[in-house]
Amino acid sequence: MTSAIPVIAIDGPSASGKGTIAQRVAEKLGWHYLDSGALYRVIALAGKQHGIAWSDELALATMTGGLDIRFERGEIFLNDENVSMAVRTEEMSRGASEVSTHPAVRRALTDLQRSFRKLPGLVADGRDMGSVIFPDAETKIFLTASAETRAQRRYKQLLEKGNHANLASVLADLQMRDARDQGRKVAPLKQCEDAELLTTDHLTIEQAVQAVLDFYAARK
Ligand code: C5P
Repeated sequence: MTSAIPVIAIDGPSASGKGTIAQRVAEKLGWHYLDSGALYRVIALAGKQHGIAWSDELALATMTGGLDIRFERGEIFLNDENVSMAVRTEEMSRGASEVSTHPAVRRALTDLQRSFRKLPGLVADGRDMGSVIFPDAETKIFLTASAETRAQRRYKQLLEKGNHANLASVLADLQMRDARDQGRKVAPLKQCEDAELLTTDHLTIEQAVQAVLDFYAARK
């Protein structure tokens, strides 16, 4: 019975540190990890490869049903092609933000996301993990930081990867994606009533990881 399998659902806006924190929590607990944002990134990439516009809901949803998407040792594969790097570009960030507004695309990814719920437990990160995909998760966290902090972090990451970046445009891009995630009709990004708020502006990664583990221990 899947409901016996514990889930820690971590939702929040882009660049809040969710991915890193969720992965470390999963490692510490020895649990599985679901990066749901990566799935929307793969749909954006596959759409581009198939010549399907990111605005074409029906064609994207039909395509999604026929894709083989797998995670292996932290890498993501689309029909046996390792697309881990290809989905991390700014272009695919924009594409994921657009394709994820379509209800039919979200529905086409629901069962795949739920299939990650396996013993001994799952740490899932995204925008609707606690609200839609795992509403019965006993630990739900809304992880956030101010737009300025998140833009600074993303800007630093881009420079470290050798990309040219402009702080003002990184901030504008994040705010545009926040508005789209919060304003869409289906599965908008919001803090669930039963989610703990964790603001990471003044926390190190290790402190944030510990805070998530403490929330889990308190709810268990
Ligand atoms: O988390 P990440 O930045 O990789 O997600 C990429 C995009 O996918 C987000 O901007 C968001 O629009 C979308 N997304 C979503 N629901 C999720 C995870 C991601 O709509 N559960």
